[in-house]
Amino acid sequence: MFLSGRHFLQIPGPTNVPERVSLAMARAVIDHRGADFPELALRVFGNLRKVFATENPVLIFPSSGTGAWEAALVNALSPGDKILVFETGHFSTLWKDLAQKLDLQVIWVAGDWRRGIDPEVAGAHLRQDSGIAAVLAIHNETSTGVTSDIAALRAAMDACGHSALLLVDAISSLACSPLPMDDWGVDVVISGSQKGLMLPPGLGFNAVSAKALERAGHSRARNAYWNWQAMLNNNRQGYFPYTPATTLLYGLDEALNMLLEEGMHNVFARHARHAKATRAALAAWGLENVCVNAHEYSDSTTAILLPDGHDADRLRKIILERFNMSLGTGLGKLKGRCFRIGHLGNFNDLMLAGTLSGVEMGLKLAGAPYCAGGINAALDILANGETN
Ligand code: PLP
Repeated sequence: MFLSGRHFLQIPGPTNVPERVSLAMARAVIDHRGADFPELALRVFGNLRKVFATENPVLIFPSSGTGAWEAALVNALSPGDKILVFETGHFSTLWKDLAQKLDLQVIWVAGDWRRGIDPEVAGAHLRQDSGIAAVLAIHNETSTGVTSDIAALRAAMDACGHSALLLVDAISSLACSPLPMDDWGVDVVISGSQKGLMLPPGLGFNAVSAKALERAGHSRARNAYWNWQAMLNNNRQGYFPYTPATTLLYGLDEALNMLLEEGMHNVFARHARHAKATRAALAAWGLENVCVNAHEYSDSTTAILLPDGHDADRLRKIILERFNMSLGTGLGKLKGRCFRIGHLGNFNDLMLAGTLSGVEMGLKLAGAPYCAGGINAALDILANGETN
């Protein structure tokens, strides 16, 4: 069936690619070993550091976010190392599974997929075990729309003087909500291109502290493609140890320009406003947020539960077929029970208004129990330009 107008891609990543970024990539492929290449690469490295809020190097791998997870683990840690991981949702579970495949010894703190990391629980584990080599945290659990308080987690680690590394997945929080790497003492920030950075999928990032780099020097893990040191040695000259995703780097260059032009403070405020307006709609509809704690609401994603007996995937299908909008599916144990609205990346007030209208019309068509009026509640917030 022919559908006119543009598709609404409202999954929590990949996100909508701005025209400026698409046009920046519509260029001939260049020689990544040529004399001109370092100018692009070094500019990108410099601007990436601004967006990651760090003086540390930010390494770029041609990979998805999962590759960036693996890169962090096979450099910073050694097989047999003990790591502390929290079950916040689907992505923390996947990262834990990956760590186990790499022969890391996982201490798994069970959770109900509706709350973030409890810093007190983290502190209790760390006090009991000085041998924990790293704490792994998902900043924004994309499967649940729950954000963990990384500054509080760092404070809990510092309070017991623990030497564990802090590895943070910022795949769906980078350039959406603040994660000042240096100020918060994060040792490795892991991210990907396809969410807040507004690019197509295909780039994975590791921002690496001096402490993490020092640990990597003693790692017994086997790594080759993901090796930080080889990457760093080449990056210093503006090159890569193998063929980088040159076309995506053009796009990244432009995406970073856009973020810095808007100003990171404004980028964060915009995401917070859209998240707040989405929650206002949700409250008016009388539907339940997966995230139960107000201080853990996500600025990037809102996951919405449907009452028992109502299939969230059927609702998504109706909305896709009637209104040409993709919403995020429930993942793992939330499959069929929730749908997710991505309000991150290249996004503005009217895009959110359209998105919420599609959801409200879909709820009606699906026969889901809801109260009308969500749109107006959201529009009030958008019209006021409220930021918090
Ligand atoms: N971590 C988080 C928080 C994610 O949202 C995702 C993907 O959505 C991943 C990791 C995995 O990234 P990828 O699918 O790019 O491998």
